Amino acid sequence: MSASGCIFCRIANKEMDADIVYEDEEVVAFRDINPQAPTHVLVIPRKHFAGIKAAEAKDEAVMGHCLMVAREIAVRDGLAERGYRIVINSGAEAGESVPHLHVHVLGGRPLSWPPG
Ligand code: AMP
Repeated sequence: MSASGCIFCRIANKEMDADIVYEDEEVVAFRDINPQAPTHVLVIPRKHFAGIKAAEAKDEAVMGHCLMVAREIAVRDGLAERGYRIVINSGAEAGESVPHLHVHVLGGRPLSWPPG
């Protein structure tokens, strides 16, 4: 199922261009259009669901897969030893702006903590 008007569904369905770095039956990963670090990749499930707040027990496998793909992208970008950050923003105060679950992979520069 895809949500009409969802830009990440459109990317997953190849209706909108993106710099895709990985895809399989369950997920698509592409470079963020407004990168916050030298590596900034988003991993999304192909199937629409409206962020981690909407996740249910049946979504556990695909969410776990998103994390494993995020890890693999960090390895491919040479970040395994340097370090990297995996982030899911949920809700307005966290800055969530696209209502389709997405896992950020950030790295390639020192990342401060706590986040802003
Ligand atoms: P969030 O703020 O956690 O919801 O993250 C949404 C991210 O999607 C932001 O970092 C945006 O820069 C990114 N983004 C929005 N539209 C696109 C697009 N068409 N292609 C790639 N990244 C996008």
